[in-house]
Amino acid sequence: MIILKIIGLLGGLAWGQIPFTTSTTHHTNQVTIRGTSQPQKIKAMVDYYLDYWQLDSLHLLVEYSNSLPRPLKGYTQYVEHKKWGVKQAIIRINARLSPKEQGLTIAHEMIHVKQFRRGELQLAGKTGYRWKNHSYRAIAKKAYHTRAWEKEAFRLEKKLYLLYLKNR
Ligand SMILES: [Zn+2]
Repeated sequence: MIILKIIGLLGGLAWGQIPFTTSTTHHTNQVTIRGTSQPQKIKAMVDYYLDYWQLDSLHLLVEYSNSLPRPLKGYTQYVEHKKWGVKQAIIRINARLSPKEQGLTIAHEMIHVKQFRRGELQLAGKTGYRWKNHSYRAIAKKAYHTRAWEKEAFRLEKKLYLLYLKNR
């Protein structure tokens, strides 16, 4: 699942004022994990995927939430503040997932972060998306599982999670 926003994330820039569970810089990424009892474990997972895709210059927040509707495992918001040179990704994970589901969902959402950071996936207008060389004007008309970026994420999530388990 992904949700894009153009505005309204200025609050996210004030993360430094919030008492974080863990927040460190990895390469040129700033990674913050919040709302889980095992932040170091989640951070190791996120760092592994950042390395795997060779992503840099990201402000990444992974936040566990108890208030997501039950079927929603997680989602990613991505914003580039060109004026400040900030590339910001926020991943929300449903705190009610089992450890295995959490692992798969984090892998899935990190694939979306990769897609955004590399410019493969972009917002196009208010309701459209651009994936590589294709534009989708009204994304609501295209069924969730048939979207190219979701197909890639579902195809790779398990492989990535197993790679992490093997190499951690
Ligand atoms: Zn997705």
